[in-house]
Amino acid sequence: MRRRNLLAVAGVTAAGGAATAYGVSQRDSGDGGDSDDSRNESDGDGDDESESEESSDESADEEADDEQADDLEERLEGSEGMLVFTYDDSPIEDYTLTYQVHQEYDVPGCVAACPGWMQDDGGGEYLSPDQLREMHDDGWGVMSHTYYHRALGKIQLTETAQEGDDRIYVEANRHADIEDDPLVIFDDENRTTATVAGGGSDSTGEYVELAEPLEETIDASGHVRYPEEFMQDILDETDAQLEEWGLPVLGFVYTYTRYHGLIEDLVRDHYEAVANHRFGGGHNEIDGLDPTAMQRMYVETDRATEEEIEEFMQTAAEDDVLSIVGGHSHFETITEERLRYTIETALEHDLAIVTMEEALGELELR
Ligand SMILES: [Zn+2]
Repeated sequence: MRRRNLLAVAGVTAAGGAATAYGVSQRDSGDGGDSDDSRNESDGDGDDESESEESSDESADEEADDEQADDLEERLEGSEGMLVFTYDDSPIEDYTLTYQVHQEYDVPGCVAACPGWMQDDGGGEYLSPDQLREMHDDGWGVMSHTYYHRALGKIQLTETAQEGDDRIYVEANRHADIEDDPLVIFDDENRTTATVAGGGSDSTGEYVELAEPLEETIDASGHVRYPEEFMQDILDETDAQLEEWGLPVLGFVYTYTRYHGLIEDLVRDHYEAVANHRFGGGHNEIDGLDPTAMQRMYVETDRATEEEIEEFMQTAAEDDVLSIVGGHSHFETITEERLRYTIETALEHDLAIVTMEEALGELELR
């Protein structure tokens, strides 16, 4: 009941309004009573601008932390469960669409960022570090989605790779994306290394072009992946870049849902949380929860109907689970309407919308 009232009020706020920073500081932390109303005042008292713009100032940071803690308590009060929103690839639409809609309901999300894409961006296709920092200052979480969105899982060969071949046929040519990348190609008995020269597909299927001919024959049952050290470096560089921008990283989202092989161990050693350890699911049982092996549900319109989202939120509230949803703000299948529906349905089921960091903190899994 409370929430429906809240939503009715929130609905008045103009959709996709001005992209001004509003800090968590708008909420009056001294309000000890039923503070639902204060959730909707994000546009109400514009006296906080100086604070939210001073994100580099330490005392302002601490103040923001305190207020986010108060805000978390408020979100958790009387809630039936926790729900984490994750958005992949750090496109500009995370800011221009998704963040704006989340702001209307005063609930955070998490950006699974590719800092290499953000950094190289010349055309406004991706979030700028400033935009992501603004979202982070406003309570959003930041996760790693690898530097340049490389597929870190192993991918199966579809043909035997013969010694002397300068291309390998693969189930998907993700490893062809970036020239000069090092590769390991291996089966149960043999292993060899190679360097990416390009890729494509022909009548046989998708392939990765190699800079030099193969020195070994690898059976069609074999796989290709990046070398361990190379993958470690990718994880390290991703976090280092985001942290250099003042964005602490908590958690990982696999690219292309490619999570098989060695990378699984590396990621679990490296991160406290993984949002898409395996495809599907989204209700992660709290009893015995391993946060590095969680799953999420996609809420894009081609992946879930409204009925399925309703059902998902109902189970999220009924069962003792940490729930995670995922989406891509730059896909046409993440619409303003879909975002609003997903958030409203979660709030109607009294789910507390939290970041990954808040969820792990609350479950004492940090
Ligand atoms: Zn992605």
